[in-house]
Amino acid sequence: MSVNLGSAERPLRAAIIGAGPSGFYAAAALFKEGIHVTVDLFDRLIAPHGLVRYGVAPDHQNIKAVAKTYDRTAAEPGFRYFGNVDFGKDITHEELKKHYDVIFYTTGAQSDRKLGIPGEDLPNSMSATEFVAWYNGHPDYRDLAVDLSCNAAIVVGVGNVAMDVARVLAKSIDELEDTDIADHALKALAKSNVKDIYVVARRGPAQVKFTNAEIREMGHLAIADTIVLDNELKLDRASSAEIEGDTAMQKNLDYMRAFAEIGATGKPRRVHFRFLLSPVEIIEENGKIAAVKMERNELRASVSGDIKASGTGKYETIPAGMILRSVGYKGVPMPGVPFDARHGVIPNEVGRVVDLETGRVVPGEYVAGWIKRGPTGVIGTNKPDAIESVNSMFDDLQKNKLEAAADPDPEAIPALLKERGVRYVTKDEWKKIDAVEVTEGKKRGKPRVKIVKRADMLAVLES
Ligand code: NAP
Repeated sequence: MSVNLGSAERPLRAAIIGAGPSGFYAAAALFKEGIHVTVDLFDRLIAPHGLVRYGVAPDHQNIKAVAKTYDRTAAEPGFRYFGNVDFGKDITHEELKKHYDVIFYTTGAQSDRKLGIPGEDLPNSMSATEFVAWYNGHPDYRDLAVDLSCNAAIVVGVGNVAMDVARVLAKSIDELEDTDIADHALKALAKSNVKDIYVVARRGPAQVKFTNAEIREMGHLAIADTIVLDNELKLDRASSAEIEGDTAMQKNLDYMRAFAEIGATGKPRRVHFRFLLSPVEIIEENGKIAAVKMERNELRASVSGDIKASGTGKYETIPAGMILRSVGYKGVPMPGVPFDARHGVIPNEVGRVVDLETGRVVPGEYVAGWIKRGPTGVIGTNKPDAIESVNSMFDDLQKNKLEAAADPDPEAIPALLKERGVRYVTKDEWKKIDAVEVTEGKKRGKPRVKIVKRADMLAVLES
């Protein structure tokens, strides 16, 4: 390396792909390294903030407040935003290599896992990921066919996403109105007929994935009771041993025991928690979902100590017209970037991208967030994760392991995008859209009114 990367004469040029939490945390960590650095943050969507805008539940505004720290990062003089730029389509891996010294991939986990059961492709069978994107105003899910005319919905899985979707289905319009839920979703939910929401776990109450705050909230729903069956809360010996000393799990159980004791109080909607059930078939009637057949499970401790669900050959059927699978997100591959399809992540060593074929580190390429470690943890978990990856990069820089970009001209990328007719959205343009949303929100007593369609966002910029 002949040039002094990271110096005032030749700042390190970093591209980050994905403007969600891990992208912003990676940018913040880069600015903190004490070197001269410029960061260009790219996103496929016009709006930045990824899951904070399009994933976090609208009634969890306290979690969304973290976006303020992202705005502070965006205010750094060396920061530029390129929204509405699709990596692999509008701009290629080779082009980024030519113009940037380092690339960080922070694209999260944009897809989801399937159940692999008959009937899964019926209308109104969808992933929680899609349903969440729909109510949060993600432009690609504006027209998702959500039919809330049925009496019951089934949510498969007992993680925090399952809790989010069950809660949104269970809440009254009064409880949702002053949030930033998308207008189209609020309108559809106002007409919802869904009275019974079944949250179904394949394992037992000692293996739930949700956290204390989320189960606690289920006790504060204005128009819905939370129903837990006492006989399903009995723990087998292995489960009792597994959670011994686990205060968070004990607390979860305390909440569930309290729900079992209180039972139904006559509220018009009910959230039922059911355990040891695996959906095996979605039953159709006249082209619509009519019910879901479930196999009853029992728990078995494996040799490794894991407690697994095992089918008993006994079945029960829950009538419902909607099924939301909430069984985990999955990363998607990107052109020119190594991908571990089995785990849905970019293979890496402490954040350094690894070529699966050669087993070697790909110089100058890094990864952070869910696409690095899989879809686990809360928003804040991505901060130390991104710092770890940036530290790996810094270590490589100090050890002269980075190759300087052939053409580091900062104007090369905007010029290329313009030449291609890509209408990229800058930081100041995003601020304009943001201000319109917030102003409209103020008028209606909401944190913001989301502009959903890309064309409508771009129209704001033309006005
Ligand atoms: P998760 O926590 O991993 O939960 C996935 C659930 O799906 C588990 O209950 C799992 O059961 C179940 N599951 C997986 N495969 C299944 C199958 N084939 N059949 C039936 N059930 C199956 O994932 P998540 O809810 O998508 O959440 C992702 C991450 O985001 C988590 O770290 C979560 O805490 C976080 N998050 C946080 C918040 C918040 O802080 N408020 C909100 C949303 C999400 P097993 O345990 O049996 O595998």
